[in-house]
Amino acid sequence: AAKQAGKNRYHLFDVAQDNAIKIQHDSLERIRLALSRHEFLLYYQPKVNMKSGEVIGAEALIRWQHPERGLLNPAEFLPITEDHPISIEIGEWVIGTALAQMSSWHARGLAVPVSVNIGARQLQQDCFATRLSQLLAEHPNVQPWSLQLEVLETSCLEDLGKVGAVMKACQAVGVDFTLDDFGTGYSSLSHLKHLPAATLKIDQSFVRDMLDDPNDLAIINGVIGLARAFGRSVIAEGVETAAHATLLISMGCEDAQGYGIARPMPATDLPAWISGWRHLGYVGKT
Ligand code: C2E
Ligand code: MG
Ligand code: MG
Ligand code: MG
Repeated sequence: AAKQAGKNRYHLFDVAQDNAIKIQHDSLERIRLALSRHEFLLYYQPKVNMKSGEVIGAEALIRWQHPERGLLNPAEFLPITEDHPISIEIGEWVIGTALAQMSSWHARGLAVPVSVNIGARQLQQDCFATRLSQLLAEHPNVQPWSLQLEVLETSCLEDLGKVGAVMKACQAVGVDFTLDDFGTGYSSLSHLKHLPAATLKIDQSFVRDMLDDPNDLAIINGVIGLARAFGRSVIAEGVETAAHATLLISMGCEDAQGYGIARPMPATDLPAWISGWRHLGYVGKT
């Protein structure tokens, strides 16, 4: 009887696994369709210098305008694509779309540096820098250095040597990097010497709790010190209140993005947001 039960259990397990595979397969098919139907779009979240008030750029963040489910955040569909070649297609769509947007802003006299997020798989392609320069060549009025690539610190750890080489090749084309969600990976300290990224972005989880949790404050202090020691710049994400802004500025981190400054918005809203943003500095606004 035990054997019978075991057999049934395995049978049930197989069914569950088959279902999971089918769901995964259907989701990927739907995502492929979404690409061809142009259902993806980019939102842009401004980045500012909180002290001077200067708008220093914007981060492009993918959204899916799903015909039935509405506007979807990346957490609802990007994880399915990880470790799958479609993630590279989406990644190239993101870079191409951001460049086209920058080109059209540029034509209207608005020079906004834009950063795009790059997945681990995309970054580890040998031909990544070549693809990047091809995409840049399609938009000759966009200066390569006005594009930045954000990579998760954790997606660099798998093959540090290779990622470091890809970064150098992209820098040779004129495009620099930000290490995103910095501090959430481990051994950041020693890895940093292999990763020539210009900027470290302090993860929002540390910023969120910095006012109450001395440990998070210490981590932020550490990242700012590390950036200074390595000659990198530093930016904070998740700045939601003036109290966060004031403390970060006093600690030596003036660049930031966050709901307290602006939420991610459609591309068409960004020019008006920029002209409406007064150059007072965040603290002056409270
Ligand atoms: P990320 O690159 O760390 O982007 C920051 C995320 O935090 C964004 O969420 C943004 O909307 C959110 N955020 C910004 N300020 C605040 C704040 O003050 N408070 C809070 N609670 N959240 C804030 P989003 O757009 O949902 O993106 C989530 C993640 O998905 C991104 O994290 C990034 O890792 C990934 N992602 C987004 N777009 C792309 C893309 O085009 N390609 C790839 N590979 N990944 C992307
Ligand atoms: Mg990012
Ligand atoms: Mg981040
Ligand atoms: Mg994040």
